[in-house]
Amino acid sequence: MNLLIKNANVFNGKQAALQKHANIVIEHKLVKAIVGGSVAEDVFDVVYDAGNLTVIPGLTDAHVHLSITGNTLSDGWRIDEKAVRSVRFAKEMLLRGFTTVRDAGGITFGLKKNIDNGFLDGPRILPSNSMISQTSGHGDIRASHAEERITDGIYASADLKSRLSIIADGAEEVTRAVREQLFLGASQIKIMAGGGFSSAYDPISTVQFSLEEMKAAVGAAADYGTYVMAHLYTPQSMQRAAQAGVKCFEHATLLDEATARIVADLGIWITPGPQLSRAYPTDGLPKSSIKLIERFREGEKNATELIDKYNLPILYGTDAFGDVQRAADIQHDDFRIYKQRFGSFRGIVAATGNVHELIKFSTYQNPYPDGKIGVLEEGSFADLLIVNGNPVEDLDVLADATNIRFIMKDAVVYKNTL
Ligand SMILES: [Zn+2]
Repeated sequence: MNLLIKNANVFNGKQAALQKHANIVIEHKLVKAIVGGSVAEDVFDVVYDAGNLTVIPGLTDAHVHLSITGNTLSDGWRIDEKAVRSVRFAKEMLLRGFTTVRDAGGITFGLKKNIDNGFLDGPRILPSNSMISQTSGHGDIRASHAEERITDGIYASADLKSRLSIIADGAEEVTRAVREQLFLGASQIKIMAGGGFSSAYDPISTVQFSLEEMKAAVGAAADYGTYVMAHLYTPQSMQRAAQAGVKCFEHATLLDEATARIVADLGIWITPGPQLSRAYPTDGLPKSSIKLIERFREGEKNATELIDKYNLPILYGTDAFGDVQRAADIQHDDFRIYKQRFGSFRGIVAATGNVHELIKFSTYQNPYPDGKIGVLEEGSFADLLIVNGNPVEDLDVLADATNIRFIMKDAVVYKNTL
């Protein structure tokens, strides 16, 4: 199947200047060329006219949880309930223009398999599989103190049985837990390196995993050619994770100057999701978490300035999970917040060109090695959007779903209002 998209103003995912009046030639699901001038149309099976609208690479949300069903991590749902629900989540994300998502932890094996083989509609998934947590850590998602450890690694907990997360203590258990996720095809490993909002038994300021445990995770991942991403908020957690070799910091909300310098020196990436500069669901959260929200809002402002000052590489990550309407809202609205925090250009690169660089850290664990993701150039997958306006200059464009006129993934059209 050969496709042509003509009259395209192309953003390639990296450079602010658009390539105007271009033709995108697609062959066998890959972009074969992007050329100016006129092209003989009769050799193509299908020709789309972009009408001189902007064509951008398919977007990537680098922090979602397709299989987290509630607004807190423990909701008592079984693994099959979570898996079924994630099918709709995935389809809706694709229809919002996200042709790739990095799943920051959960059950995605069956979903990914059935999207990749064409049975279901959804984005490409870069899976972490189960989040790895210490006992009483952010991924210890037992619903109550009554849910105790029965025997080695086995808990009386529906939530833990769902495999959203896996509990590991000591370097040996951490190594095994990491290898288990790699066995299932994880493109990167997700660990919980500090406390969180959406869990009941780990205050936000707790430091989680010893240096030795984190090094074990990083080492086991590195032996499989890939990297560790860590959930963390505080400078203490970040500095320990940096020392252990963690490559990607998720949230990193309380980033301070000393830590920012370390992050810059070591080339660590940040997914600075605007968790708290928007309304955050407080239902079911412990009171102590609610009190902290204000402190975190302040932290987010600081982190924004430091990310700018040290020019730290960032990813677009919304932490979309739970309520489907909320996920829909934040995946669009966060573009507005990224524009306010980082400017339109850095904001769109976080969701496109930077992803192309990020995937290199997964080397042979990259599940999609046959094409480029996040950029629009020769050799890219035919994952692209046609949008009103120019999001490179005004990222607000992507905050309104109706501006996304055309969505193509793997050369298949999922939306077309042209
Ligand atoms: Zn998350």
